[in-house]
Amino acid sequence: MFSDQNHNANTIVIQYDYVFIGMGASNGLMLLELIKRGYHHTKRIAVIEKAQKNTNDKTYCFWSSPDASIVKDLSSIIRYKYQFVQTNATKVQSIQDQPYYCIRSIDFYNFLHTTIASQPIDVFESQVDGVNAHSEHIEIAFDGRSINAALVFDSRPPNFTPEANNKSYLLQTFFGYHIRLQDAIINTDTFQMMNFDVDQSNYTQFVYNLPYAPNECLVELTRFGVDTIDVNYAKKVLDDKISAQFGAYEIIAEEQGCIPMTVLKHPASSDDRIIHMGARANLIKPTTGYGFKKMYEFAASFEHKNAAQISKTRFSFYDHLLLIILIRWPHLGKKIFTALFQKNSIQAIFSFLEEKSTVSAEIKIFASLPIIPFLKACGIYFISYFKKGYLFVTGFIALFFLLQWMSPPLASQFGYTGLIAGLLIVGIPHGAVDHLLVQSKKFNLINFVVQYVLIIAAYFALWQWFPVFSLILFIAYSAYHFGESEMVEMQISLDTIPQKLYAFIIGLSILLFIIFSHLETSLLVLNSIHGVSSFIEGIDFYPYKNVVLAVSYFSILPLWWISKKTCLYLMAILVLGIQMPLMLAFGVYFVGSHSVNAWGHIATKLKTPTQKLYLQSLPFNLGALLIFAVFLYLKSANAQLIQSYAATFFVFLACVSLPHIVLMHLFYKKEA
Ligand SMILES: Cc1cc2nc3c(=O)[nH]c(=O)nc-3n(C[C@H](O)[C@H](O)[C@H](O)COP(=O)(O)OP(=O)(O)OC[C@H]3O[C@@H](n4cnc5c(N)ncnc54)[C@H](O)[C@@H]3O)c2cc1C
Repeated sequence: MFSDQNHNANTIVIQYDYVFIGMGASNGLMLLELIKRGYHHTKRIAVIEKAQKNTNDKTYCFWSSPDASIVKDLSSIIRYKYQFVQTNATKVQSIQDQPYYCIRSIDFYNFLHTTIASQPIDVFESQVDGVNAHSEHIEIAFDGRSINAALVFDSRPPNFTPEANNKSYLLQTFFGYHIRLQDAIINTDTFQMMNFDVDQSNYTQFVYNLPYAPNECLVELTRFGVDTIDVNYAKKVLDDKISAQFGAYEIIAEEQGCIPMTVLKHPASSDDRIIHMGARANLIKPTTGYGFKKMYEFAASFEHKNAAQISKTRFSFYDHLLLIILIRWPHLGKKIFTALFQKNSIQAIFSFLEEKSTVSAEIKIFASLPIIPFLKACGIYFISYFKKGYLFVTGFIALFFLLQWMSPPLASQFGYTGLIAGLLIVGIPHGAVDHLLVQSKKFNLINFVVQYVLIIAAYFALWQWFPVFSLILFIAYSAYHFGESEMVEMQISLDTIPQKLYAFIIGLSILLFIIFSHLETSLLVLNSIHGVSSFIEGIDFYPYKNVVLAVSYFSILPLWWISKKTCLYLMAILVLGIQMPLMLAFGVYFVGSHSVNAWGHIATKLKTPTQKLYLQSLPFNLGALLIFAVFLYLKSANAQLIQSYAATFFVFLACVSLPHIVLMHLFYKKEA
């Protein structure tokens, strides 16, 4: 049991080299690795764990070569080793080159307790409330006190929010009996994996059978499904199965658990000094729930140049396809896994599941599976990209260029029609659900609308009196807003000042790139805004054009290391936008990236399906169109006030976006 050894810590803030938050599988393996390397002799180490870890809450199983270091390092606690496997109804296969090993979690925890107790390691039995990065150190707060660390291993479990129209979030739930039989009839060398000879009930359900002794084994019913398994139902299925297979039995213990199966990723750590571990580092394979061996490899590669690979993109793609199938057509799971085990050697399957197979081996595996569900899943996968805007926007740009080459007036007509359609479909709606972002009990819609319109009106007035200040303000908050939504899209947290600053830099870079790549038109628009022209005319922007373009473009480059997809997409639409008119270049970014992303964030975080969200946005969509009409009327009524359509549009955008940007910022902050 972990016992708190440092009761006086609230009086002094202690500086540690390494602090472990949580002492489960991943951090336990990392701590053992550091001790193996002798780090504990020179480094000051602390462990903060909220649980006592004195129950056998799970069993860690993995397959591995008997010579591998994981087997050697953990040999004293490996409880079971299986040299043969039977999957589904196939014949028994030898796995002597890669036996299946199992460690009872209680043995692992006890091993950790004994190791920690024999070393100069401080232990706090507490729940960590916050981790704050400072320039000098990382501060870890718990129980109203804090300690500082140079490096933190954070294994707090991630919190996934499935998308509203769940495409990739499933649960692996299991319920098992540790049973004893009257007769010793079990072959302890052989375990049974994924036996689908049980009721499916429109889920993917199978049984594992891990022998512990000739008359003892763990029989576990597992479900891959959007719903968790009901315990009474599981007991009934297990009882039928065990009675049919073994006859009379006695229950020694029950085991149950749940592992999220998702390709959603917990955001990467935004500070090199905070290392995400285990499930938090996305080390659990979405489609199998295995992660223990990967966590061992991650720990073993700590500080090594060839650090363990998290997950190769193509395996994430395969996982995604399988999850799509299991969510939409759960009854197909049995057919797919049966074909997998019947037509491939267990070695090929192990290496595939471990993400160590070659592409040719993977093609062979897929060729052995029912092709239609995978083709349909591919369709859904790519359509989701299409919906996300990437393919759609790229197609739109390609068509625009083709038309421009054939007939520029037609291209222009096509482009602006597309822009208006985009604004109506997602640009305006993403701002028309602002009332849903305020989730206060005291919320009053009329007050909300009045305040919203007052802010717009006040800002409009500010534009009339202080146009230059209003312009600078607009660029500044738009830059932060665009950057903020890009950061959220890439799942980068926005806790620290440098992160917020980088969000601002990204947004500003996007804006400046679009403005400076259309400098002439941009200046024309700005010049047409009442009161801005005298300011603009005083500055010669042209000498800075190339520098601004280069700096802003390359400021986006670091995103490559966070999300290649987002970075490539952003850089592509910015470059392609150079050859489009200003309004279209901006529209492509605003609609095709910013609005689509923000709409997705709102739908996901509010757990509201798109259609419903659309309905809820309708009144404010119409409201936005009405305000726009008023601006147009003002233009005709007072040509001096706002001199052109583009300027009208610009000021309109600035005014309506202010309350929206504030609300979105508060929403992101609350939902982080
Ligand atoms: C029932 C079950 C069976 C599994 N079986 C296998 C298997 O056979 N093979 C395999 O490869 N994988 C398996 N997994 C998947 C995975 O290997 C385990 O879930 C593994 O425990 C994940 O390691 P972790 O370090 O991320 O989390 P954990 O092992 O859960 O450790 C996290 C620790 O952090 C502590 N903690 C959380 N929040 C705080 C806080 N705020 N402050 C302080 N401490 C905190 C928790 O108490 C916990 O001890 C299984 C998972 C489950 C749920």
